[in-house]
Amino acid sequence: MSFKFAAVRGIPARRLFGGSVLFILAALLLTACLPESEPPVTTVEESRIVMGTLARLQVRGAPREVQAALQEGMDRLARVEADADGEAVRALEAAAGTGAWTEIPASLYRMLTFAQDIARRSDGAFDVTAGTLTALWDDARAAGVPPSDAAVREARSHVGYAHLELREREAGGVHRYEARLMLPGMRIDRGALIKGYALDEIRAQWQEGALGGALADLGASSILGIGRNAEGEPWKVGIRNPRGESSTDMLLVMPLTDEVLSASGDDERYFMYEGKRYHHLIDPHTGYPADTGLASVTVILPLDPPDDPAWAAHMGMLSDMLSTAVFVLGPEKGSQLLDAFPSALAIMIGTDGKVL
Ligand code: ADP
Ligand code: MG
Repeated sequence: MSFKFAAVRGIPARRLFGGSVLFILAALLLTACLPESEPPVTTVEESRIVMGTLARLQVRGAPREVQAALQEGMDRLARVEADADGEAVRALEAAAGTGAWTEIPASLYRMLTFAQDIARRSDGAFDVTAGTLTALWDDARAAGVPPSDAAVREARSHVGYAHLELREREAGGVHRYEARLMLPGMRIDRGALIKGYALDEIRAQWQEGALGGALADLGASSILGIGRNAEGEPWKVGIRNPRGESSTDMLLVMPLTDEVLSASGDDERYFMYEGKRYHHLIDPHTGYPADTGLASVTVILPLDPPDDPAWAAHMGMLSDMLSTAVFVLGPEKGSQLLDAFPSALAIMIGTDGKVL
């Protein structure tokens, strides 16, 4: 300690002897007696357009740690946006209908496996193979005109999670992950889980640091809250009124501590045609935007789930998938799906703008 003191001050240790030594010892004692519970804490923040939304990261903690943690969080987001798995998805789609297996990375295999679990539990209301349908409705939204019934039927004929097969195998001492799409023209859409996946990636990175608190907000539809905010309180997230006058019209404010939140609403991406709203959450059974009386669904999950250990480390992806699945299923069937996840908190808002 005295060596450190002398070194910091740049004073050779022998010059410390004499009259000043008592003063220095007293200063050291004083420092030692200061309460240790209040280390310096600072908050840093950065916003950037990622995956088509304004992503905002905030990190609170020791000054030496926060900047690196913020940077690592942004790096993770950039990596998900660069879409390391995109090439594998395209190869899988190119082989659709041929019966051939495509080797895919472990990360994509995990993503598709979890998606298939929610597809089964939701009886296909959530379907990661809905790609031809969602693309059809993306084009319709751009044109401002709904597609013909024939076009919807055609797109729907390439959709069905039961036709996505996954397998793991050992080959030549290497563990391989493979997938195949059994119908020609099938397409994968990860839009309903990729932001949740990005939050899981950020969380894995942030968990390693001893942060006082951190918030990752991906355009308000997927939010991760770790620890507490600068006031020592839970992070706070507004639940938007999907029928409000403006995007700042909030119905509720929810606390978020060591939790992840995802929201799906018919007010995010839609167009009006002949007085009817056509939004981006598609019911794969009908091929049309889900029409179950819901305008938005928010699902909040704890980061450390008591429910099912298989989901640990994937709660972002789970909440993202559940908010979409519950929206498409509607209030009754959606609640039944949520029964399997007792730690999930769901806020459903009807098309009349009222909380159910
Ligand atoms: P946000 O894009 O605001 O995060 P969601 O998480 O609900 O909202 O994802 C919506 C996206 O999911 C759509 O844009 C589309 O790409 C895809 N999608 C739409 N309907 C379904 C569905 N039934 N199952 C799986 N993915 C869907
Ligand atoms: Mg979602």
